[in-house]
Parts: sequence; structure tokens; C-alpha cells
Amino acid sequence: MAHWTGAIKFSDDEVWYFQMNGVTDTAIPQLYKSFEECEINWRQGKWIECTCNRAEPVAITVAPLKGWWEGTACRFCKALVTGLSNESPGTIDTYHNELPSWSPFQ
Ligand SMILES: [Zn+2]
Repeated sequence: MAHWTGAIKFSDDEVWYFQMNGVTDTAIPQLYKSFEECEINWRQGKWIECTCNRAEPVAITVAPLKGWWEGTACRFCKALVTGLSNESPGTIDTYHNELPSWSPFQ
């Protein structure tokens, strides 16, 4: 799979970025605060986990998909916690088949 970048939006409209594992179509959990930082660290993302239990609800989209889904992410651990795949059980039911207005991938 090609170079896929994803974005998440917190409830205060802050948008952060992550990378997709193109083989499994699953998000690599490490989050970046800017698209540039995400690009610079291409393929360097770590499989990090939230260890502080302060994850918040986020909306998630990925560049080539014209849709978004729901998940949770932690700003303190800079980790995507749930919603790593839009096709996983518990996530697929939250899929919205429309490009969100906040998406940086317009
Ligand atoms: Zn955390």
C-alpha cells in the first residue's frame, strides 16, 4: 500500500496526524501534532500505548478514504488508543461515509 497519512480531530478542533501501516491497513498509534512532523518521521512511528487512561473521543480520517470514524486518543501519551482500523469490530459501526469538513485531505 502507498503512503497513507491519517488525521484525528479532538473535541476542541485540534487536528493531529498518524501513519497507516499499509500492509495491514491499521493505524500506527504514534501521533504527531503537525503533518510535517508526521512526514519527517515516515515509517518511524512507534507502537506506543496510552498508559495514563486519559484518552478522549476523537474523529478519525485517512487520506484516500472519503469518510471518517470514531475512536479515542491520548494527548499526553501521543497515542491513538481505539479506532486504529475503520473495519475492526466496534469501529465499523461508527463509520460515516462522508468527507469531514475538518479533514486536511480535501
Ligand atoms: Zn495516555
